[in-house]
Amino acid sequence: MTSAITTLTGPAVAEAVTELAPLTVADRCDQCNAQAFVRVRMPSGSELLFCGHHGREHAPVLAAQGADLRDDTSTIDA
Ligand SMILES: [Zn+2]
Repeated sequence: MTSAITTLTGPAVAEAVTELAPLTVADRCDQCNAQAFVRVRMPSGSELLFCGHHGREHAPVLAAQGADLRDDTSTIDA
């Protein structure tokens, strides 16, 4: 399932990263304003929030640019 991302990011995923904060119901997708389940921190330190749909759409691209990702989409149906 994650093979595409792993291929794109390579050794970068092995870098130590600070844990990204869990998402809350107050967090909204930057693209469609739905509840956000994916937090992305760019190398510049700025953060982006995405819903499950947009997270899946953008995560591989952003990861390839060196962004850190937190994916809480597994909590959608919890
Ligand atoms: Zn969205």
